[in-house]
Order: sequence, then C-alpha cells, then structure tokens
Amino acid sequence: MNRIKQLSAQEAQKIAAGEVVERPANIVKELVENSLDAGATQISIYIEDGGKQLIRIVDNGCGMSVADAHMCIKHHTTSKISSVDDLTSITTFGFRGEALSSMSAVSKMQLITKDADSELGVCLSVENGAVAHEEAIACEQGTDLSIADLFYNVPARKKFLKTKETEWRHIVTLFEAFCLDYTNIHFKLFSEGKMLFNCPAIDSIEQRIVQLWEHSFAQHMITLKDITQQGVSVRGVISSHQYSRYDRNAIFFFVNSRWVKNYKLTQAALRGYLNVLQTGKFPALFLFITLDGAQVDINIHPRKEEVQFLHPRIVEQAVTQAIKATLEEHLSSHLKTDVRIASAHAENRPIPTFNMALSSSFAQPFKEAPFTAPPMSFSSPTSAPLFIPTSVSHNALAEPSAGSQQSLNSALEQDEPEITYRVVGQLSSTYILLEKPDGMVLIDQHAAHERILYELFAQRFADVATISLLFPIIMHLSSSDMRLIEPHLHLLEKSGIHVEIVGVNQLAIKSTPVNLKDANMQELIKEVVSWIYEYQQIDKDLFFKTINEKLHAQMACKAAVKAGDLLSIAQMQQLVADLEKTDNRFTCPHGRPTMWFVSTYEIEKKFKRNYR
Ligand code: ADP
Ligand code: MG
Repeated sequence: MNRIKQLSAQEAQKIAAGEVVERPANIVKELVENSLDAGATQISIYIEDGGKQLIRIVDNGCGMSVADAHMCIKHHTTSKISSVDDLTSITTFGFRGEALSSMSAVSKMQLITKDADSELGVCLSVENGAVAHEEAIACEQGTDLSIADLFYNVPARKKFLKTKETEWRHIVTLFEAFCLDYTNIHFKLFSEGKMLFNCPAIDSIEQRIVQLWEHSFAQHMITLKDITQQGVSVRGVISSHQYSRYDRNAIFFFVNSRWVKNYKLTQAALRGYLNVLQTGKFPALFLFITLDGAQVDINIHPRKEEVQFLHPRIVEQAVTQAIKATLEEHLSSHLKTDVRIASAHAENRPIPTFNMALSSSFAQPFKEAPFTAPPMSFSSPTSAPLFIPTSVSHNALAEPSAGSQQSLNSALEQDEPEITYRVVGQLSSTYILLEKPDGMVLIDQHAAHERILYELFAQRFADVATISLLFPIIMHLSSSDMRLIEPHLHLLEKSGIHVEIVGVNQLAIKSTPVNLKDANMQELIKEVVSWIYEYQQIDKDLFFKTINEKLHAQMACKAAVKAGDLLSIAQMQQLVADLEKTDNRFTCPHGRPTMWFVSTYEIEKKFKRNYR
C-alpha cells in the first residue's frame, strides 16, 4: 500500500508558517521589520486580545504598487534579493520572502497600501493565502497590514497560544527592543484601542528609557563606559548597584543592531554584577555590541533571534569588563557627591573630633570605651583613598596601575583631610551611628566589615597576615570530594589557607589568615568543594576567577564582625576609617547596602522644624 502522498500547497503553507509564526509577537516582529525595511519613520502597532484577535501595523514607509501588493503574499516573493548569491550582502531584515505568504495562510489578512507613484491605494482581503476581495481606496503613502483571527484554520496551533497576558508580555518586550534599537523612529503601541506607549523619535537611548519606563527606573540607569577591545565594541546603559529586579525582563542585547537572545551574553553581563547584586536578583541592561559581521552568524535560528559568535569569549569578556568598570567608577563618584566621610588615616591622625557647634542637641561628651580588642583589619596606609573617583582602566580592574595610584595619593596629600564625622555609638549592637555636619549615617557593621575584608582579600592580599595553627584542623572528605579539591589546593594556598593531604581522604588545615583564625574552616572547605563541583565545567580562567571571588566573599563573611557584636568606639572608628578607603563600599559583597545617610534636612522635616 502506498503511504506517501503530497500535501496540497495550502496545507504545506500552513505547516511552513509554523516556522516563522509561533506566537503573535513573531508576527509583530516580521511586520515591523518590513516597515523598517520600507523606510518608515512612524510605526504604530495595534493589538487585540494579545494579538490572537488582531495584529495591525501601520507605517509611513514606501508602500507598494497594486501589482506588488498582489505579489507580496505569494510564496518566495521578495524585493530584497533575486538569487542566493545576494544573501551574503543583504543588510535589510527579511530575505526569505516567506513572511507575508506564511501569515496569509494562517489568518485573515487585510493589506492596505499605496506607493508614491500611485494615485490610489489598494485594499486586499486575503483568506487561505488567496485574494478574496480587492478594492481601490484613497489613502496616504505607506502600508496598513492587519492579521486577524490567527490560526483560525489551524486549530492544533491555536491551542498552543498562551494566555492573552503572556502573549501581550512578549509583544511589549519586543516593542521595547525595537524602541531601544531604533531611537530615530516614532513608535506607538495600542492594546484594545488604547494607546499604551507613545515614543516619538529622540536622540539617545537614555531618553528612550525614560519614554518606556517610569522615571524612577530611569534614575537608576548609568551610561556604560564604551569599550572596544579586539574588534568588539560595547556601549549602552545599565542599572546601578541600587537597582535590582527579580526577573530578566529588562536585559536586552543588540548585536550589530539586531535584538538577540543569548544565554552566554546574559551570564557574562551578570558576572559584571558579581558581588554587587544579591543572588537571584537581576539588573536592567541595554547593551549594544558591534563587531565585524564575519565574526557573527545570525542565521542559526529561523527567526534570527539567536546569534553565534566565532569567538564568544572575546565578546563575553568585553561585556563583563564594560559593566564592571562602569559600576566601579559609578560607585566611586557616587561617594564623592553623596556621602562624604572624609578620609582619616587612623594611624597618624588624631582621633576624629567633632565640631560641637553643629549639634548642640547631641552634644553629650562621648565616653570612650577602652580599646581592648585586637585591630579588626589590616588597613594599609598606602592604600588609595577611593573617595576620589578613579578612572579605572579596563584591563586592570583589580589593581590600579602604579601611575594612577601615585596620582591618587598626591591628590590626597594636597587635599587637606577634613574630618567631618563623629562616631556617636552603636545601635542594637549592630549599627554604627555617625554624626555628620549635614546629617547622620547608619552603618551596618557586618556588611561594612565584610566589604572591607573582601576588598582586602581580593585586592590587597599582600597586606593580609596569616598564622600557623598550633593544632592543625583535620578534616575527612568523601573520595569524590577529595578528587574534586585535590587539584585546586593551590587556590586556597593563594588566599592564605594552607591545606595538606595527610591521609586517605584526609586533609589538614595548617594555616589561615589571622582574621579567620576563629572561623569554621571545615565549613569553608566544604563550600569550596561545592563550588568546584558546580563550576568545574566552565572555562579555566573563569573558573579560577569565580572560585576566587566566592572564596573571598565567604572568607570576608566568616571573618567580619557579626550583627550583635559589641564594639568599642575605637573599633568603630577603625572600621569607619577602613571603610572609607575601600572600593565598592556602598554594598557588601552580597549586594546589601552598608550605609544609610539621613540628612539633617530630612530630620528637621520629620520634626516639622524650620525647613526650606
Ligand atoms: P521579505 O521581507 O523577506 O522580502 P516578506 O514576505 O516579509 O518577505 O515581504 C515580501 C515583500 O513585500 C517585501 O520584500 C517588500 O517588498 C514587500 N513589503 C512587505 N511589507 C512591506 C511594507 N510594510 N511596506 C512596503 N513593502 C512591504
Ligand atoms: Mg519580511
């Protein structure tokens, strides 16, 4: 019995349509790309029922002649190429000549269009891929294309459409991407007849963000420090350390001006936020990557939503570094303008005094607790005073070059130190209260100390003292854990944790950094094993970097004073002095804030005193 039969052209079309059209947002994408190709400067999108009922795109592009309008809905019809050889040189979006014909096969389509040469436009109603009705019509130049009743004749596909809300969400994200990518186009988006977005053409991506999101969102955005390395340039806008969200809906990448989704790029961007955002939280970012077209393949996906790079690592590194450098610079300058706790090199300066005239109401003399505890940190007098914004060089983030260090130090020397805070005391054995001329600062002692130690471990390791344990700590591991950690013991060694193998599945911890002498080292080693397990697949450099960062964060956490630890005034002064010399001091390595400034103005306002 013969089982093979040829599908009718119409059935084949419906199946082919599935490749381009999976959900309404795919249709919106194809149609807006056609409008852009047609040179439109105004594109309006009308949606009903999440696109299931209606998708209508109106543009002011070049439009089509009556003959072209008939042509465009046929199979393999395009004005963009005439042979396969043209494929490599194509710069416009579509080049398969399939979109309109596919859509007309699975929806009720109406096409109204007029080009510059025609007196009248044409209105075509298309059903099952064929023109059902045609009429001459007076209209403006441009194209008005409606796709109604999607999949009305393919119930199997219609079933797979998601809820109105889900489909709408996809359309909005796509709309945002188009707006960000084409700031020179006036876009509008309507739902159920109501205009929900109106984004006239503007000059910059920053302005576009204000149009698309609320002002408070835009306030947290910072412009990326442009970087170009190895032929890859990255520019854009990213959220600062003060912003985070629980989803990835505000992460956009554009590669050579094409919106793409790429898991690896997202991961690379998130690495730029390592130790700035808490785990499980995501930034907002809009990154534009430009590179030689030969270095990127955009045709790996039928809808061209994904890309493949010839050298993905180069691109990923550029993304991570651009973000890191931008955040670091932002944090440094932020300190200068916002919370200016003046530098105090505690070693050779008098203990900060406070101008009592500024605060008659708080002016109780402070009784100093005796300084008994050992110093909590190893602050180095040579460390750069980081409240001066540093210009970070991209390839030397961790260690500022000798030259910049020099100039920072001399800048400090010229700048007479100004001590403008007084440690008032400790609240709930957890927060340090500082009085400043213009308000007060609460410092979370654990978060702050954690950040100080993290930067110390990560960047100034030469300043960290280690001690040999009189009684080495013996640890038992399973043989699989042993196999994991054995090749990486040098990683621990480099962070001041000396571990030796002393028997089958037995380790001895022989020395640790002084700050960690009372910490639970076994727990730390077990954590290291779990990270090695988790990250063993990733590339070598990144592996070391990740493990190091996690190790330093965890060491800092374990060594830092805890909430609830009673501190002497001298200890608190030391902590504040160390903090002001520390990079990234506004957040702890897990992204929690370290300090909170409340201005005198706010306090007076609260108490309804005279305020301006
Ligand atoms: P492709 O975009 O791959 O060429 P499509 O099926 O999307 O294929 O479109 C077929 C042709 O219809 C296009 O090449 C273009 O000439 C014409 N066309 C489609 N949309 C528009 C539009 N909005 N304005 C002007 N011409 C259009
Ligand atoms: Mg097209």
